[in-house]
Amino acid sequence: MSTVASPAAKPIVDEPPPQPQRWGAAELARLTTMVNQPSLFYWKGPQTTALIEEFRKLYPFKHVFPCSSGTAALHIAVAALHLRPGDEVIVPPITDMGSVIGILYQQCVPVFADLDPRTYNLDPAAVRRAITSKTRAIMAVHLAGNPADLTALSAIAKEHNLILIEDCAQSWGAKHRGTPVGLVGDFGCYSLNDFKHIACGDGGIVATNSETYGPGLSKWGDKSYDRVNGGREVEELAPNYRISEPQSAVAAAQLTKLPDIVTRRHRAGSLLTSLLEGTPGLLLPTVASGDTHSYWFYMLRLELARFSIPRAEIAAALNAEGVPCGAGYIPRPVYQYPVFQKHNFFGGAWPVRDSGLTKMDYRAVSCPVSEAILQDCLTMRITEAMTDGYIEKVARAFTTVTKRLAK
Ligand SMILES: *Cc1c(COP(=O)(O)O)cnc(C)c1O
Repeated sequence: MSTVASPAAKPIVDEPPPQPQRWGAAELARLTTMVNQPSLFYWKGPQTTALIEEFRKLYPFKHVFPCSSGTAALHIAVAALHLRPGDEVIVPPITDMGSVIGILYQQCVPVFADLDPRTYNLDPAAVRRAITSKTRAIMAVHLAGNPADLTALSAIAKEHNLILIEDCAQSWGAKHRGTPVGLVGDFGCYSLNDFKHIACGDGGIVATNSETYGPGLSKWGDKSYDRVNGGREVEELAPNYRISEPQSAVAAAQLTKLPDIVTRRHRAGSLLTSLLEGTPGLLLPTVASGDTHSYWFYMLRLELARFSIPRAEIAAALNAEGVPCGAGYIPRPVYQYPVFQKHNFFGGAWPVRDSGLTKMDYRAVSCPVSEAILQDCLTMRITEAMTDGYIEKVARAFTTVTKRLAK
């Protein structure tokens, strides 16, 4: 008998991962109204106005700018700060490339700080160590839907006069001590791409309560045109990151479903943790007390020293029992991507470094906790359609397989 294959003919998880019906009557109703509009332009468009209203019901920000992607939302937030070339923004190494694209396009320098081994979010002590005289902002990513330690990060930001940008792309509906993520720092940035909790194909939202940065948000996402006063005296270089009415129509309808989606995902993810608690060989994600994880996915770590076979084979054994998990997340920390290792940002060059505005060398960066997480983690997609019964089967498969494969 193989050590990996299931001894049973039937896998423990004997059904495919339950998939929700993501779009339906609510989206169709908005799209039907939309096709009778004379224009699909976003500015003051009825669908984009509705999107802003629905968003504000859950996230009561003063200034809200829907845009074309989460990457765009983050770029707009960074651009709004008016940073100088060579200024630094502290970021985590395990994230989507979209977190750092805007920083680089603004000729600024992403500085990677290491993570907490159990939340996979920025370690406040590592953030402190990364601060220099050029640091202007911290970008906190709430990985997988688990809120970063915003209390500690806000305190650090305040102490050092830094802006705190929250990358909430993976954390729709997550809360830090009762406050929806995005509202704790200076900016909340959200993604509506197809893979997120709620989606409209592609889209994003950047929001702030700041009276310094808020009124200018739209200019930074709309070629620096002044839609409010109608002016076209372009004073800054800004891209076109506009959303459009079809995207807004779907997104506005999706937002009405968010609380239910988050309740269900939170229940599934928390149940999995409680059922796996104490299983030898598994390091489960921790959620700070008082916080709400919204489980875009479920990420846990293997204590590989307790197993006789490598992670890929453990994942294969779990897959054979019907667990829809994968070995790993992103292939390597972001700073190890070829674009960083070669400093290949603009036509094979990196002007801010070539002109002496930074000494950053990404080949010399090392974040050991992040590297270890990516070596031993497993990730599993959570959906709002997963019932308690389904999660119970997944947990049984985990305990059975880990027991069978333990040294
Ligand atoms: C998805 C994602 C983004 C980028 O969002 P897009 O809408 O795909 O541009 C940024 N940061 C994180 C953490 C993400 O997961």
